[in-house]
Amino acid sequence: MITAYHHPGFAVPLGEHVMPMRKFALVADAVHAEALARVQAPAPIAEGDLLRAHTPEYVRAVRTGEPRALAESQKFPWSPALHFSVLLTNGGVVAAARAALADGVAAAVASGFHHAHADHGEGFCTFNGLVVAADVLHAEGAVARVAVLDCDLHYGNGTASLCGGRPHLYNCSIYGNDYHQNQPFRDVSVVRHEDGPNHRSYALPNGSGRPALLEALERGATDLLAWGRPDLVLYQAGADPYREDPYSPLDLDHEDLRQRDRWVFEWAKRHGFPIAWVLAGGYTADVSKVVAVHVGTFEVARLVFRRV
Ligand SMILES: [Zn+2]
Repeated sequence: MITAYHHPGFAVPLGEHVMPMRKFALVADAVHAEALARVQAPAPIAEGDLLRAHTPEYVRAVRTGEPRALAESQKFPWSPALHFSVLLTNGGVVAAARAALADGVAAAVASGFHHAHADHGEGFCTFNGLVVAADVLHAEGAVARVAVLDCDLHYGNGTASLCGGRPHLYNCSIYGNDYHQNQPFRDVSVVRHEDGPNHRSYALPNGSGRPALLEALERGATDLLAWGRPDLVLYQAGADPYREDPYSPLDLDHEDLRQRDRWVFEWAKRHGFPIAWVLAGGYTADVSKVVAVHVGTFEVARLVFRRV
């Protein structure tokens, strides 16, 4: 059975907030109830492991709440509970990455936090769990190369900024909300950007459906393999590309996103790449539709990897 890392402390009580924190528990409950995964609690990450990817000033600000503007740069109100929750969620990403190396596949019922930079947070992302996990396993000698396959609606700008000076890391960001701001039109093809020696991104035109998404995955995988064979793939299975998401200009329904997940898992399996996935964004007002996307990823993973 697939191991999925979740802890009730992943969700900080924020009241009415655009980030639907409760989705994490709803997904964990559903995968447990449907026996799609074995849900385990991760340990909070050690501060020393955060310091591999983040500056001491920033890590200290999130621990102490001061300076407040820096502690809240991810746009969450700071509290001791917020600090503990980000230690747990980042611990969950590291645990899932480790479990994937042992079992071939694993998940963290948390976000990957791809907007977090070395010295500040952004877009509800405090610490960049993807880069932290890559750095922890690389420092241990467990992996030589880690690839991030980021299929959140948004461009993984934090991960992109952290690619510099990390030849062990590759970032492939497939997104529908063009960060480069040069492609506002419908019915044009996927635009590929060379963002750095170890980073490529693929902008999906507004209105894109399944064909454009699969084309971007094919092109992204080709570029990734040209960089090298990863020892681990970290997959951001975002729910915000979903057509009803308030941020999504794409035309992707639940089945399209299941086909995306199937493509990714079959690709990883075919190449023998261990893969750990995280949930990432999803803001549809009816949270059950967001949960359905994330549970769909578990259903597809079980099918592809035949873990029952
Ligand atoms: Zn997003």
